[in-house]
Amino acid sequence: MATKIDVPGVALITGAASGIGRATAIAFAQAGCTKFALLDLNEGGLQETKGLVEQSVSATDISVGTYKCDVSSPESVVSAYTAAKEHFTRVDYSVHCAGIIVFGGPSADFPVEDFDRQNSINYRGLWLCCREAIKIMRSQPFDCEAYPDANISSVRAQRGAIVNISSGLALYAQPNCPAYCGAKAGVLALTRCDALDYVADRIRVNAILPGIIDSPMTNPSPEIRAWLESNPVQHTPMKRFGKPEEIADVAVFLAGNKASLVTGASWAVDGGLLAGYN
Ligand code: NAP
Repeated sequence: MATKIDVPGVALITGAASGIGRATAIAFAQAGCTKFALLDLNEGGLQETKGLVEQSVSATDISVGTYKCDVSSPESVVSAYTAAKEHFTRVDYSVHCAGIIVFGGPSADFPVEDFDRQNSINYRGLWLCCREAIKIMRSQPFDCEAYPDANISSVRAQRGAIVNISSGLALYAQPNCPAYCGAKAGVLALTRCDALDYVADRIRVNAILPGIIDSPMTNPSPEIRAWLESNPVQHTPMKRFGKPEEIADVAVFLAGNKASLVTGASWAVDGGLLAGYN
């Protein structure tokens, strides 16, 4: 059971149809949130996540909105965030999990279309989501005013919090992944910039660097799965795949008021991978 979040606010999650995004939605529900805007391209997966969120807690007042959204399209992102804001009146937490990985080869062999596609989702798409989240958050009252029963002190009050899912590959390389690694490094720089630019608005922005997590992304084929298992996973001090829930729990913490002094940070959640290998 996840630690309770102080403010049971509105949680918006991209990439919510699968893996880390799905686990994040469930973790927010277990932490006490009751209002969800779930975004993804995959409508069937979104409905499954909605069902799992509703089943994961006994609360009867759970409200889950699903929004088909292509994060690479500015129109689609604006439309989904606008619809979520209209329905729920505010967005307290925006967690950006949507992403893809394409193993296109080293740079000289890497197709331009694959490079552009990864950037348009993993970096530009995430930025589009941050942009809409910030527009909503900066114009909404502090959470201590919107949720007086939560008894949030003025020091810990916030208008909203953003958690960007980057990757350990922002800081170390894996063969054949130049576009993915570059986009994920860009997410860290963007996180720091937004954290700085919106600190006075009391919007916190942080990034998580997952290690190797057991999700559909790390199961594209038996060959890639076997390579991950026998190579990078074995270089991880904990020598195991992480679980999506282990990323989700950190996302809930970073979004909540208990992390009120944390902004612009890059949190590794990777079984020790960035610390070194043994
Ligand atoms: P996942 O299970 O494949 O989930 C990614 C989700 O993003 C899927 O539901 C996917 O939909 C959706 N998506 C893809 N393109 C989209 C678009 N244009 N617009 C909206 N949604 C889109 O992978 P995951 O492991 O949970 O990954 C979540 C995040 O963690 C990603 O940003 C990933 O880069 C990052 N990450 C993962 C790992 C890992 O080991 N798994 C490690 C480090 C970082 P479809 O299924 O329809 O494509």
